[in-house]
Amino acid sequence: MLVLVINCGSSSVKYNLIETEGETEVCSGIVERIGAVTSIVKHQPNNESVRKESKVILNHSEALQEIMNFLLSPGNHIISSPDDIKAVGHRVVHGGEMFKDSVLIDDVVKDAIEQAFDLAPLHNPPNLKGIEAAEERLPDIPHVAVFDTAFHHSLPPYAYLYGIPNRLYRRHKIRKYGFHGTSHYYVSRQYYKLSQKSKNQTSVITCHLGNGASIAAIKGGESVDTSMGFTPLSGLVMGTRSGDLDPSILFYIMEKEELSLNALHAMLNRHSGLLGLSGYAADMRDLISEAKNGDRRCQQAIDVFCYNIKKYIGTYMAVMNGCDAIIFTAGIGENSPQIRKKSVEGMENLGIVIDDERNEKAVNRKIEKISSDSSVVDILVIPTNEELVIAIDAAKIATASNQSPWV
Ligand code: ADP
Repeated sequence: MLVLVINCGSSSVKYNLIETEGETEVCSGIVERIGAVTSIVKHQPNNESVRKESKVILNHSEALQEIMNFLLSPGNHIISSPDDIKAVGHRVVHGGEMFKDSVLIDDVVKDAIEQAFDLAPLHNPPNLKGIEAAEERLPDIPHVAVFDTAFHHSLPPYAYLYGIPNRLYRRHKIRKYGFHGTSHYYVSRQYYKLSQKSKNQTSVITCHLGNGASIAAIKGGESVDTSMGFTPLSGLVMGTRSGDLDPSILFYIMEKEELSLNALHAMLNRHSGLLGLSGYAADMRDLISEAKNGDRRCQQAIDVFCYNIKKYIGTYMAVMNGCDAIIFTAGIGENSPQIRKKSVEGMENLGIVIDDERNEKAVNRKIEKISSDSSVVDILVIPTNEELVIAIDAAKIATASNQSPWV
């Protein structure tokens, strides 16, 4: 089934056209800087080279029109009619407490996504805009919402409740939700397939290390804990986000630096993490190269990043009474042998031993085992594919609207 996957940000629409039976991507692309003087449009049909153009694209609806025009253009040989697309899968960041599965979108679902605006003010409003724009362009086919939070719905209350007055949970739904659910789900499923272990008897720790980064503990196929929380700000140190910190620091710096709430929000989300620590860059490649040139702060940023990963791995081994596998994925996890090594080194007594040669070679976007033969715990690199999860969910729900693919 041909499924269009849409991922909308505040000024961008990313898309992938996926043939779900063969799990192949037919075309992908992005419209960026929507609403700016000129927008940037990139399309990549059939794994050919990227076609890039500047255009004026004023809103998400025009971005969807641009995407449909490209897909339908006879010279591109992608689709000949909008009817060729059988479903649209939408990435929605926050499903709140309501959605534990992907759902067919109707007015009630759209209302619920809107109710979660407060929980994800940067993500859910553009996600809903994208849904409405796509419905306008493709009104006659099922639209399905796939939530970043859904996979973590299985967290037990002792893992998702914070140590604050319980009424705040009851009144405002303040709890851990977790994110990157489609990625943690995908790589854990790839591991079950590869190892031929039954998911019920398997515990894995999945490390999604991109600009945003999170770790999940997955036991018996279900997420039992994860590092991101109420929002995607907590947990690991990230590109520009702080990760975990002592909440008292917030009051202290607000007073000392005379920061407003908005300035504090910007500082923690956009000026912290690797960027804040290094004072140089948020991008791991830049940090690695500057650290090699002797920049002490860049090296410290890398050290903090890896130390936090190691701490979470240890914590989740305790939570699950050990684990069968540690999986690295996303930009840093898939491409950086150095970060992978540093994140698990010195854990031999926990049965975790990386093989340096295998680790160095695992940079080709393929599934690779990088643990040594003596390691009790498997360590793997498994490239993520969140779009494929969204497409397959959308296809399943479009064909049997009450069947949950998440069991
Ligand atoms: P997101 O999807 O969250 O924007 P990605 O999964 O694309 O992020 O990951 C981006 C991160 O991956 C950046 O920090 C980038 O530097 C890092 N990365 C990509 N390639 C490499 C590499 N070869 N070595 C180290 N880090 C890399």
